[in-house]
Amino acid sequence: MKSAIKVKVRGLVQGVGFRPFIYRIAHEHKIRGWVENRNDGVIIHAESQKIFLDKFVKSITEKAPLASNIFDIEVIPAVMENFEDFQIIKSESTSDKITDISPDISVCDACLEDMKNQAHRIDYPFINCTNCGPRFSIIKDLPYDRDKTTMDPFKLCETCSSEYKDVLDRRFHAQPVACKNCGPQYELVIGEQRITEFGEILNRSSDLIKDGKIIAIKGVGGFQIACDATNEIAVKNLRTKKLREGKPFAVMFRDVDVLQEYTTLFPQEKKSLETWRRPIVIVQDKGKLAPSVSVGFKTVGAMLPYMPFHFQLFEKLDISAIVLTSGNISDEPIVIDNHKAESILTKIADAILIYNREIHNRTDDSVAISINETERIIRRSRGYSPEPINLKLNVDGIVATGAELVNCFAIGKGKQAILSQHIGDLKNLETLEFYEESYHRFISIFRVKPELMVHDLHPDYLSTRFANDLQFPAIAVQHHHAHIASCMAEHNLDEKVIGISMDGTGLGTDGNIWGGEFLIADLNDFTRFSHFEYLPLPGGDRVTKEPWRTGISLLYKVFDSEFLSLPIPFINEMDKEKANWIVQAIEKKINSPLSSSAGRLFDAVSAILNICTKTKFHAEAPMRLESIAHPGFEAAYPFDFGEVISFKPTIESIVTDIMDKEDPGLISAKFHNTFINTIFAVANQARKETTLNKVVLSGGTFQNKYISSRVERKLMRDGFEVFYQRKLPANDGGIALGQLVIGAKRRELGLL
Ligand code: ZN
Ligand code: ZN
Ligand code: FE
Repeated sequence: MKSAIKVKVRGLVQGVGFRPFIYRIAHEHKIRGWVENRNDGVIIHAESQKIFLDKFVKSITEKAPLASNIFDIEVIPAVMENFEDFQIIKSESTSDKITDISPDISVCDACLEDMKNQAHRIDYPFINCTNCGPRFSIIKDLPYDRDKTTMDPFKLCETCSSEYKDVLDRRFHAQPVACKNCGPQYELVIGEQRITEFGEILNRSSDLIKDGKIIAIKGVGGFQIACDATNEIAVKNLRTKKLREGKPFAVMFRDVDVLQEYTTLFPQEKKSLETWRRPIVIVQDKGKLAPSVSVGFKTVGAMLPYMPFHFQLFEKLDISAIVLTSGNISDEPIVIDNHKAESILTKIADAILIYNREIHNRTDDSVAISINETERIIRRSRGYSPEPINLKLNVDGIVATGAELVNCFAIGKGKQAILSQHIGDLKNLETLEFYEESYHRFISIFRVKPELMVHDLHPDYLSTRFANDLQFPAIAVQHHHAHIASCMAEHNLDEKVIGISMDGTGLGTDGNIWGGEFLIADLNDFTRFSHFEYLPLPGGDRVTKEPWRTGISLLYKVFDSEFLSLPIPFINEMDKEKANWIVQAIEKKINSPLSSSAGRLFDAVSAILNICTKTKFHAEAPMRLESIAHPGFEAAYPFDFGEVISFKPTIESIVTDIMDKEDPGLISAKFHNTFINTIFAVANQARKETTLNKVVLSGGTFQNKYISSRVERKLMRDGFEVFYQRKLPANDGGIALGQLVIGAKRRELGLL
C-alpha cells in the first residue's frame, strides 16, 4: 500500500545543496513526488510504501549536506496524487517567513579534484559546487537564486548551464557555478601593469611574496594583505605601512601538517581549523615565524586555506606560512571594492589582486579559541554569519543595536535571532556607514518589520543614537545585564541565575563605569549582588591606552601618597611630576570617573608589574599579563569580599613580591589565581544567599583562557551548573543577543 506525506524542513537549507540532496535520497528510496524551495524552508511531497517513506525521512537528518543545519522537520499525512517521478520545483517567493542564508563555505575536496581534471575548470580559481563556495558574501536578496546574487552579470555557458540543470550533477542549482569560459576572472595590478593571464598572475603573485613583497588579495568577504610570515623584514615592513605596531597578525598555513610544525595543536583546535567554516583559531606558537608576526605573544592566529586561490598559491610557493591580515587602514572596515582597493591599498601593498565579481556583504575572517576543549567564537563573521540563533522566546520585530566596540547588531525573526556579521568599533564614519548599510540590508533581506529598538544604557554610543533616531519605540538595557542575557539566550535559559560579568567597560545604573559585576539576573531584570570596589580612572577614556594612569590610581588607593616612595621599577621609572598630576586629578575629581572594571584591574596590575604601561591595541595590557603567567601554580594572593570586593590586600602582596624580585610570570599567575578565587568565593556566597546554582559567565575578560578554563572547572567541581558563551563572543560582539532577549522578555511580560 502506498501513501503520501508532506515534509516541511526548516533551518539552514538554502544554498547548501539541499534540494539535489533530497532528489538523490528520493531516488534511493523509490520516492515519487516533488521538492520545492520556499523562502520559509523546503517542502517535500513524498509518495511510496510506508517503509520507504520512513527511511527517506530518517535520511533527511542523517545524511544532510555538511553546511546545512536542520532546525525543524514536520511530517504530515497528505493526499495520494500518484506522481510518476520525483521532481524539483522552481523556487517561489511565498511569504515573509524567510529561511536562513548560508554562510560562505570553504572550497570542498571534490572541487579541488575537479580543478585538476575537469577540462573547463582546470586551474580555475572560482570553482564551486552545491556543497561549497561563496554564499552570504554574494547574496543580495532571497530566495537564493543566481539573479539575486553578484553572479548575476555572468551568463552561464552551455556546459555550466547543462550542469546547473542536471539534477544528478554536483553543480545542480549551485548558484555561483562558473568555469573558465563564463565565470569571474582575476587581475593582478602591479603599478601601471595589469596582468590578466591566470598562470602569469599565479607566478607573479608567488614571486612577489617570495621576494618579501606585500600583496593585497581580494578574498571572500573583503581584501586581505599577504606577505611571507617567515620573513621578518617583510612582516616589519607590513607593520610600518599598515600603521599597525602592536597587534598580532593572523597567519595562513599551507596545510594541517605544516601547522603542526609551527604550532602546538590540540584536538578541538584542529577540528575548528578544518571545518568548512575555516575560522582563525588562536593556538600555541612554537616561535618559528618571523618575530614581528606575534609581537611577543606565545600564540598565533592560525588558519587554513579556504579559497581555491589559496591552495593554488601555496602550490607555487616554497613558503609554508603567509601573513593574511585585513585589507584596511587602521580601524576602518575592510575594503571590498576594487577601485577603493586600487586607490587605498597601494599605499600598503606592492601589488593588488582583484577579481570582477562584487562582494555584496563584507565579512572579516572569524576568530575562535578553544577553552576546555570547546570552541568559543570571539569574532563572528565569515563562515558563521548570518546563521541564526534559535530561541524559545518570540523576538519578532525586535532590533538590538549592540554596544560600541566590536559591534554586531541583532534582528528578531519569529523565534530566531539573526546576528549581523562583525561590524567593528563604532568610532569612525566608515564603520558607522557599514553599520547602517548592514542594518537596512538585514531588515530587507530577512523581511523584518522593526517594532522595538533595544540599545545600551550609554547615551553616547553611536548604536544608542542610531536606535533613538529611528521612529520606533526604544528601550535601554544595562550592559552587563545584556552580557549575561546573551549567554542565557545561547543556552535557552529563562530563569534567575547568578550572572558573573567581567569586562572593560559598560555604563552602570548608578552612573559609574561597571565591569566587575556579580548579578542576580533573569531575562527581565537584575540586582547587583556584589562588584569590584570602585577605582577612579584619571583621564577617563585615556586610561585604556595608558594603563600607567590606572596603575597609579590603584597604588594611591592602597598606599596613599606613600606609593611614590615604593622601591619598584614602575615607580622608579616614573616622572614624579606626572604622577602628582594624576593624584591631583583623583583628589579634585577632575575627569576621573569611578569604575569597577575587571579590565582596568588587569590594566593596573600589568602596569604596576611594568609589563605594559602604554598600549598599542585594545586589551593589550591584560593580554600581555596573561601571556606571561606560568601555568601549574596554585598559589594566590589574599582579597576581601562582601558587598564589594577589595583587591587592597592583593596589591599590597604584589608590591611586596615585586620588591622581593619575584618572577613576574609567577606574580601574574598568582594574580590570575586570585581573580579566579574571587569569582569562586562570591559565586559561593551568592549560592548560599539565594540557593541559585546556575552560574552564567560572560564579558570580554572570559576570553582570557587562563581565567576561563580554571573558573569553569573550579565552579563545576563545586557542583555549580556553569554556562559560558560558545556560539557568540563573550565580548561586546555578543551583547546584541542579550539586548534582544531582554526586549522580548519585557514585551512578553507586558512591561513596555
Ligand atoms: Zn565544491
Ligand atoms: Zn561555464
Ligand atoms: Fe562589555
